[in-house]
Amino acid sequence: MPYVDRVTSDLEAQLRAVSLRVTRPRLAVLAALRDHRHVDTDTVISLVRADHPMVSHQAVYDVLRALTDAGLVRRIQPAGATARYETRVGDNHHHLVCRTCGAIVDVPCAVGHAPCLTASDDHGYVIDEAEVVFWGVCPDCATPRSS
Ligand SMILES: [Zn+2]
Ligand SMILES: [Zn+2]
Ligand SMILES: [Zn+2]
Repeated sequence: MPYVDRVTSDLEAQLRAVSLRVTRPRLAVLAALRDHRHVDTDTVISLVRADHPMVSHQAVYDVLRALTDAGLVRRIQPAGATARYETRVGDNHHHLVCRTCGAIVDVPCAVGHAPCLTASDDHGYVIDEAEVVFWGVCPDCATPRSS
């Protein structure tokens, strides 16, 4: 089977696994997110519309919401940044964000499952997640630019 068809049937299987109807916009958004990590909504729109000019902005918004609700896509929103989307879900990985340029990279969870921090007092709550974001300065921004 050609690569493109194999990827498409793979994405179709992902949609069917969560009982979502297979539609062209859903396949296009999943394909864009498979190739580009931590992209914001505007980037997803331009990636999708480059291949499928007929897909509207609103359709992309709707698809992102449906895929996120279904758990196929993870939405992350570091404080002060626009929401980003990725298809790496279910592994409780964390993100490292550059304060200067906003670059985001994945950091595998040292513990591997949620919650990976223990609350000093759980106040009787059943805690299932600790939201961890690492902030810092990326190597590019830390190196003084020679002009
Ligand atoms: Zn940076
Ligand atoms: Zn990530
Ligand atoms: Zn962790």
